[in-house]
Amino acid sequence: MSNNKKFETLAVRTQTETSQFSEHSVPLYLTSGFVFDDAEEMRASFAEEKQRDLYSRYSNPNVNEFVDKVCLMEGAEAGFAFASGMAAVFSTFGTLLDAGDHVVSCSSVFGATHGLFTKYFPKWNIEYSYFNVNEVDKIESLIKPNTKFIYAETPTNPGVDVLDLDLLSAICKKHGLLLVIDNCFATPYLQNPIKHGADLVIHSATKLMDGQGRVLGGVTVGNKELIREIYLFSRLTGPAMSAFNAWVLSKSLETLAVRTDKHCENALKLATFLEGHPKVTWVKYPFLKSHPQYEVAKKQMKLGGNIIAFEVEGGIKGGQAFFDSIKMCSLSANLGDTRTIVTHPASTTHAKVEPEVKAAAGITDGLVRVSVGLEHVDDVIADIEQALENI
Ligand SMILES: *Cc1c(COP(=O)(O)O)cnc(C)c1O
Repeated sequence: MSNNKKFETLAVRTQTETSQFSEHSVPLYLTSGFVFDDAEEMRASFAEEKQRDLYSRYSNPNVNEFVDKVCLMEGAEAGFAFASGMAAVFSTFGTLLDAGDHVVSCSSVFGATHGLFTKYFPKWNIEYSYFNVNEVDKIESLIKPNTKFIYAETPTNPGVDVLDLDLLSAICKKHGLLLVIDNCFATPYLQNPIKHGADLVIHSATKLMDGQGRVLGGVTVGNKELIREIYLFSRLTGPAMSAFNAWVLSKSLETLAVRTDKHCENALKLATFLEGHPKVTWVKYPFLKSHPQYEVAKKQMKLGGNIIAFEVEGGIKGGQAFFDSIKMCSLSANLGDTRTIVTHPASTTHAKVEPEVKAAAGITDGLVRVSVGLEHVDDVIADIEQALENI
């Protein structure tokens, strides 16, 4: 599919070649291996003189379709798909980093990513330095001769802070570093970090890409030489996405734009409601004028996303009273589902994170994260309103 088409068209029309059965919807290619005509074809294929599928740990028609689609959506040259978002994060890091390297990262990163930095990097002699989202002017002072890349999520989890991609990319260019962005919260529909200078973009496809809380998946896209390295690493280490998950996810991407539009519309309405509520100390949503990085969000995002962070009165007690009063919304750790999910990071995803790291990431005891779903927004607001009244 030529990439001069619009996002929605690419999402719907990028498909694996039709088989001899002329199916309209792409079938599921559940096969671990592929066959060869003769010894020469097999030799040429393994020698990569011939481009074709060999074994589903390397590539598979369903996975290829998913990857091609994400590449078109992100404006990327190439990509590789993984079993989960964390497999994408880990395999990207594992490919890029050598013992003795250093990473500069935003301090508010996904809990498991923080776990990689703190628990496993030391054993490979890899160092990291965190910068606070509100202190981007200090990033340059953290760069060392052995720094390999700058890593960031924007909007961040769970604080919903926004980082200026043009600024990060300018710092990377100046110091000869790679820029790696976890674009999970924004989705390729709302934000394309490569257009702002990122070298690699990572997604957990488990979230809005699937959008219905069914399967896990991850993907890294970007510069083709780097993706080639990631492919070689992954071909040996085996974190590949399954054909089934790729099939589900590629179909989900067909509706990413319409779903995300509605998610964002609902989220803005809920955020606006929360902003005026007496039991709410503050609300953070990228497209609210009160967001500290509102201008940056407007510059680099199409809409504000579906995640809202807000703080309820009364600290941990207030948070618990709020959660215990929720009737319809789900108390869960996932996000980007059709069902609205409320999470209490202080007692769940970030419970094991050190207090000073939590503070630096803006995670207070009363912080609530909402992943706004596709129910009618009036019902979501009504549920949250009655729970706030019980604080
Ligand atoms: C969920 C998430 C991940 C990890 O993805 P999984 O698919 O759960 O492994 C990474 N980064 C961000 C920002 C996430 O929200």
